[in-house]
Amino acid sequence: MIDIKKLTKRFGDSTIFSDLDLTITKGEIVVVIGPSGTGKSTLLRCINFLETANQGKITIDDVTVDTTQAKNNDILALRRKTGFVFQNYALFAHLTARQNVAEGLITVKGWKKDEAYQRAQQILDDIGLGDKGDAFPAALSGGQQQRVGIGRAMALEAELLLFDEPTSALDPEWVGEVLTLMKKLATRHQTMLVVTHEMQFAREVADRVIFMADGKFVEQGKPEQIFTTPNDPRLKKFLNQVG
Ligand code: ATP
Ligand code: MG
Repeated sequence: MIDIKKLTKRFGDSTIFSDLDLTITKGEIVVVIGPSGTGKSTLLRCINFLETANQGKITIDDVTVDTTQAKNNDILALRRKTGFVFQNYALFAHLTARQNVAEGLITVKGWKKDEAYQRAQQILDDIGLGDKGDAFPAALSGGQQQRVGIGRAMALEAELLLFDEPTSALDPEWVGEVLTLMKKLATRHQTMLVVTHEMQFAREVADRVIFMADGKFVEQGKPEQIFTTPNDPRLKKFLNQVG
């Protein structure tokens, strides 16, 4: 289970969010939607300590970290429980697809190289890129690069996968294959927290949709409720704009 309590993040004088609570059950797919600049990426980045929150506690499974007194070991332990998929893939350009997928196994989990490469190849097979193991990112399409990015996150068998707009940098022709892979993970009951503008994905795949605006969870519920009977005027306006 993932439990976030009273998470607060400020940049200088500006409070991005304060006292946010979020509980995610094992296997749950939570999609966060909301206007630009509202703190969605910052929330994901604080969960993974890519940013350090000013206050709050983050629990994933058996690891609880108080953000005000997080030690390096705590942060590492928490990071081992999460995988992050970035909007711009963030692959290592000088590493092949197989090496990119294996990287976390080697550096985070301490696997031997040949074992990590073997596992990486299995993952590439699983995500339909079995023949691209030796390809460098520049030789892959955007969709293929992002699938490698997801493969890299999958390799760690993390409790929680965090996705920050995984399809929004893609040409439209590549969006489908990435969403298909994410749906496949969902059917395997991988716990996922996904920030996306893909409303169709949210409708089909989410167990819960959270509408975030001005640093607050303004409204949340089943996709059906959020998309067909929204209550908050800001959510109604947002849905009109994106739909
Ligand atoms: P988008 O939909 O455009 O990706 P978002 O909801 O992900 O938006 P964030 O990127 O989390 O929004 O940004 C929330 C606010 O925090 C914005 O006002 C942004 O300018 C500010 N912000 C984000 N990162 C930093 C930073 N490193 N330093 C200062 N301000 C930041
Ligand atoms: Mg963002």
